[in-house]
Amino acid sequence: MKQDNYSPQVKVMYTTSNMPRERVLTGIRANGTPHLGNYLGAMLPMVEIQHRKSKTHDIFFFVPDLHSFTTPIDHDTLYEHTLRNLKFFIAAGMDFWADGAYLYRQSSISAHSELTWILDCFTYFGEMRRMTQFKDKSALEASEVKIVKKVLDGYNLTQRLKKLTTQRPMADIRNLFMFDRKEAAQKIVNELQAVKADHISVGLFNYPVLMAADILLYNAKYVPVGEDQRQHLEITRDLALRLNNKFASIFPAGMFETIPVEWSKQLEFAQRDNGIRIRSFRTPEKKMSKSVSDPAGTVNLTDDPKGAVKKVMAATTDSFGVINFDWQKQPGITNLLQILSLLSGRSIHEVVTEWQGKSRYGDLKRAVAVEVEKLLTNFQQKVDEVNEAKLLEKLESDEATVGLIANTTLLRVQQAVGLRPRN
Ligand code: ATP
Ligand code: MG
Repeated sequence: MKQDNYSPQVKVMYTTSNMPRERVLTGIRANGTPHLGNYLGAMLPMVEIQHRKSKTHDIFFFVPDLHSFTTPIDHDTLYEHTLRNLKFFIAAGMDFWADGAYLYRQSSISAHSELTWILDCFTYFGEMRRMTQFKDKSALEASEVKIVKKVLDGYNLTQRLKKLTTQRPMADIRNLFMFDRKEAAQKIVNELQAVKADHISVGLFNYPVLMAADILLYNAKYVPVGEDQRQHLEITRDLALRLNNKFASIFPAGMFETIPVEWSKQLEFAQRDNGIRIRSFRTPEKKMSKSVSDPAGTVNLTDDPKGAVKKVMAATTDSFGVINFDWQKQPGITNLLQILSLLSGRSIHEVVTEWQGKSRYGDLKRAVAVEVEKLLTNFQQKVDEVNEAKLLEKLESDEATVGLIANTTLLRVQQAVGLRPRN
């Protein structure tokens, strides 16, 4: 479609050379309380991308609020968290008011839902079923699988069985195992899987299609996401190419004018370091996580700074008595070194050189605690300073602008599938 067909508001989005700038699209999840891991592993990298790319690219920031409840959440706080988390990104250094930055809520633009439905009808059930995120979230827990496998293999489970007697339906498996009824055990596995499936929403199954709509509506070329979203990005490309092929005679340039570039190019663009994984202060073998209840191990961005200092000072370490950077043997100490490096803005090499071989863990903890306290104090002050009315005004004005872009794409799709006249 030529740019002349766009409405005046949309033309505003073109540079003086009359060429639309390439678009970067990034989503900011609304649910839960972000923690230090989210800050260092997701928020700062996003701020960095904005700083690096805003001169040459338009950046579409959106709140994927419709994605928030594919798994159960507290709906009483969803709306409030949407705004609060945007304030967090501002406090982290994001400039939503920069030239070429657009901020909007997914649920405010109905084209997302409408395009999802249309795309759904061109998406294959088998494709969705193969998505690993869906499989992960809907499958048996790893521990359950292990036990069940052992049962099926007929191994001696006497040690484990004791632990399982109180757990149903695992207890049933025990009985079956006793009588060596492997077929029946297999049946139980299937039933367990089915029970799980009954608690999984169709929304979770379907959410990659909504994600495809989020991207394709705006002809986004770059979508900086983690490895866990790679398959979803690829299905977006597949769907776009499928529809572009099918309706080639109607829209020779392709109904989706720009589709996201392939994975290797996405990585090149984002220069993303997937390696950053901040661990829990309590159980440093595990990552800090929103959905796991681990108050002593998790520093939330809303924590009282003094309380956070206590958490750091009580961090689990080890009994080696010597500081070394080694995720396998000394995850607690290594986590502290990594956090210190990221918060103080020094390279990990520099920090390790300073601390390696020293024996006073307390000193290292104190150095980290000072940085964490400083971060939280400054961060929370910045959050308080955000003008909510101005934020809402920005959202509403950008929602009007990007809504026009989304509707332009939706109309092309509606015309292609025969819902609207094709001119
Ligand atoms: P959940 O437990 O519900 O999955 P989460 O804490 O993993 O929550 P997400 O909302 O899944 O948070 O992730 C938001 C972003 O934060 C993602 O880009 C993810 O890679 C990043 N992230 C999450 N946890 C960490 C962590 N411990 N260290 C570094 N980055 C993290
Ligand atoms: Mg996560």
